[in-house]
Amino acid sequence: MDRPELLEKVLDRYGVDFIATRSGWQSVRCPNELGHARGDENPSCRVNLTFGAAKCMGCGLSGSGYDVIMAVEGLDFKAAVEALGSVRKREESMWLFQIGWICGILLSLDLMVAGSPLG
Ligand SMILES: [Zn+2]
Repeated sequence: MDRPELLEKVLDRYGVDFIATRSGWQSVRCPNELGHARGDENPSCRVNLTFGAAKCMGCGLSGSGYDVIMAVEGLDFKAAVEALGSVRKREESMWLFQIGWICGILLSLDLMVAGSPLG
């Protein structure tokens, strides 16, 4: 998962409205509601989906998607990675499934060659 993709996923996680197709910086409601007296009514958080970076002018939140999760949920880096980990695990098992499938084809090709008169 690259940084822009990570930040999009994190903003989705907190129900933040953003324009996925906009390059450069845009203002969004800050996901760190506890950092704002009235839930950041006037959007003061700036996000850049080209770089995958966030910076809030109100509460000081800044950094990558992982930094946002750490600040909002009070997690350390490892826990923040794990919070998003379920999606990645699914991708990895899909990848292993494909490798197994390809090995199966190669093995059956090999058996065909070995079983032929020319083999
Ligand atoms: Zn904020």
